[in-house]
Amino acid sequence: MHINTNYQNIAETYLFSEVARRLREFQAANPDAPVIKMGIGDVTRPLCKSSVEAMKKAADEMGTAEGFHGYGPEQGYDFLKEAIAAYYVKTSSVKLALNEIFISDGAKSDIGNILDIFGDDNTVVVTDPVYPVYVDTNTMAGRSVTYLPSSEENGFAPMPNGVKGDIFYLCSPNNPTGSAYTRAQLKEWVDYANSLDAIILFDSAYESFIEDKDIPRSIYEIEGARTCAIEFCSLSKTAGFTGTRCGYTVVPDDLVRDGQSLQKMWLRRQTTKFNGVSYLVQRAAEACFTEQGLAEITENIQYYKRNAAVMCTTFDELGWFYTGGHNSPYIWFKCPDNMDSWTFFDDLLKKANVVGTPGCGFGKCGEGFLRLTAFNTYENTVEAMERIKKIYK
Ligand code: PLP
Repeated sequence: MHINTNYQNIAETYLFSEVARRLREFQAANPDAPVIKMGIGDVTRPLCKSSVEAMKKAADEMGTAEGFHGYGPEQGYDFLKEAIAAYYVKTSSVKLALNEIFISDGAKSDIGNILDIFGDDNTVVVTDPVYPVYVDTNTMAGRSVTYLPSSEENGFAPMPNGVKGDIFYLCSPNNPTGSAYTRAQLKEWVDYANSLDAIILFDSAYESFIEDKDIPRSIYEIEGARTCAIEFCSLSKTAGFTGTRCGYTVVPDDLVRDGQSLQKMWLRRQTTKFNGVSYLVQRAAEACFTEQGLAEITENIQYYKRNAAVMCTTFDELGWFYTGGHNSPYIWFKCPDNMDSWTFFDDLLKKANVVGTPGCGFGKCGEGFLRLTAFNTYENTVEAMERIKKIYK
């Protein structure tokens, strides 16, 4: 018997535990400090009414002989796929066939599981800084990854620049940097991937925060994407489903490699290893995409966006370099006085009692930056920004 020794190559994720440790230490020494936590990547507003009602109704159905649902289709019920297809038409003018949409328990699982359909010898490219799941899932499978550096110069939205690869991970709007690719930039990526016969794994978990018309909400808005891209999306940030769990993955009909349909392979993978999302959750998700549901979830997104706007105004006033905030719940900014990420984390905690997430925890290129999130109350956000202005002006 042998274990998968690749697990020994996974970097220790001490980022959030170290943030928690430093915070604990600070609070023990300063029990009355009015700490505001702006490092959290979890939503804080409750589920919308339409979703809750739909879930209750589904629970009642399940308690009747006629309404009971056992195993459902592994790839999701048509009622939810139809709602998602209509959402794509509405928000992106993208038309998807129902067999191209796969419902899951969230984007994170699918982003990891998709690797089942790719050979181990592929070259994988991620942007740095990066959502750690892309790196760790490949490390588990024994693949090493190539990092595409990003920086102030490229606005944390790196372009291919001739990098060789078979699988490219793109996340737009990005976690952690909040940067988002324009239509022209994504077109360049799509053309590049097609020219190499490579695949783009496109993570659009934050698409609902996009406001600029020039920033695509789906990669399929770009001509040529259907032959090179798989898109992952989630109701976590769109509709507060971080605890309820529902996401979807799009694998177009046109995606063929080595003579095989990737969609057929993904269907085979899912029907073998996954048994679908619960009926209750799929009904709750469907309710988010009704006219009423969309109005309700939009209200929550607008709430976070108002927080993000307060943060942008503050950093504009301070003259600090930042990305995100406009099409994203994340603001990624340069630490003042050339402090490194952890030094500034401590300084901000000590002087302003505000907690952020050190950028260096997301990759080498994150050193010297900090991430704040808009997932807080408006009052806390305003208060935190007032403190930052007072201290660092
Ligand atoms: N992708 C990105 C970029 C994320 O930031 C997150 C969550 O923080 C996810 C995917 C995970 O989404 P889900 O909650 O649907 O698993």
